[in-house]
Amino acid sequence: MEANQKKIILTGDRPTGRLHLGHYVGSLKRRVELQNSGEFDEINILIADDQALTDNADNPGKIRDNIINVVLDYLSAGIDPAKTTICVQSALPALHALTFYYMNLVTTARLSRNPTVKAEMQLRGFEDEGLPAGFFTYPVSQAADITAFDATVVPVGEDQLPMIEQTREIVEKFNRTYGETLVLPKAMIPENEFQRRLPGVDGKAKMSKSLGNCIYLSDNAKTVKKQVNGKMFTDPTHLRIEDPGHTEGNVVFTYLDAFCNDDHFREYLPEYANLEEMKDHYRRGGLGDGTCKKFLINVLEETLSPIRAERAKWEADIDTVYDILLAGTAKAVEKTNGTLARVRRAMRIDYFDDRRIVREWEELLKKAQQ
Ligand code: ATP
Ligand code: MG
Repeated sequence: MEANQKKIILTGDRPTGRLHLGHYVGSLKRRVELQNSGEFDEINILIADDQALTDNADNPGKIRDNIINVVLDYLSAGIDPAKTTICVQSALPALHALTFYYMNLVTTARLSRNPTVKAEMQLRGFEDEGLPAGFFTYPVSQAADITAFDATVVPVGEDQLPMIEQTREIVEKFNRTYGETLVLPKAMIPENEFQRRLPGVDGKAKMSKSLGNCIYLSDNAKTVKKQVNGKMFTDPTHLRIEDPGHTEGNVVFTYLDAFCNDDHFREYLPEYANLEEMKDHYRRGGLGDGTCKKFLINVLEETLSPIRAERAKWEADIDTVYDILLAGTAKAVEKTNGTLARVRRAMRIDYFDDRRIVREWEELLKKAQQ
């Protein structure tokens, strides 16, 4: 990074449902920490409603409804509109134009190789039904989002790495073709490997709205308890408490790896100093699944109960939430239009910025006559 380059964050979420614990540990928690670190010049969060339409074209109402859910989740988790710009993608026309230009800088072969898109296509049945071109090209629109804000850092879960890679390739190709114009972004993934891709409560590889295996930030305490006690499997070979158990591939322990710290032990399970000691006991035998699950519920509640309380406050004032979104989006319109103007200048399609082209055309015609 150049010494004088501003430090700018861009992240976002698809408003296809409420946010869940996977979003929280994969990205949202980090955003709040970075926001409060004071180390960044700008922090932007994009509600990616256009991207959500690429696989929900027949259900725009779902996207419309979930914009409010996602904003409420941000505000309740600690995103502060005084420090962070929250905006809505569809209201930023510059992103559409940038996407259209970037499309020319990627091949369909390259897009077909994106492993996340491949997995998502399969999940949505697009392989049989036919693939919407918009969905196929959404990584290009994501490159438009990131570059429009001049983002240097993109805090995301692991599934997003191929998107950031694709963005970097587009930036490099653009700058090579049209001159140094776009900022090269970097992905920032959680240090804790269990937070990079939190599995679902059913143990499936990823907690995901589309898979219905989530604990939502807005779930009440009773639901959280039900999800942990009813849906999470532990170790199928750990039949009696005395039996030795496995902690690897055991969803309860994966969640503890992702969420608990030593303070949680002091507070809720003082027989152990830390997770390693607890795991050792489980492996030796003599530690019951009930105790582990009860501890996990306490740990999750430490994260969830303050978020829940904040959400209740914001829910009582949706007018203010709307104003936050309106102001954030207006600011983002300015910012992204600025980038688009810079891009059009670099591509020499800035015909109407000034009348310079009139002189160029006159020159050209004069030469043709000679
Ligand atoms: P959808 O199924 O609609 O794609 P999603 O649950 O995958 O929803 P996104 O809106 O696509 O959520 O992702 C938003 C952000 O949350 C991204 O940075 C993504 O990496 C992160 N994220 C999503 N799910 C997880 C997870 N299970 N673990 C860690 N990070 C996650
Ligand atoms: Mg996703």
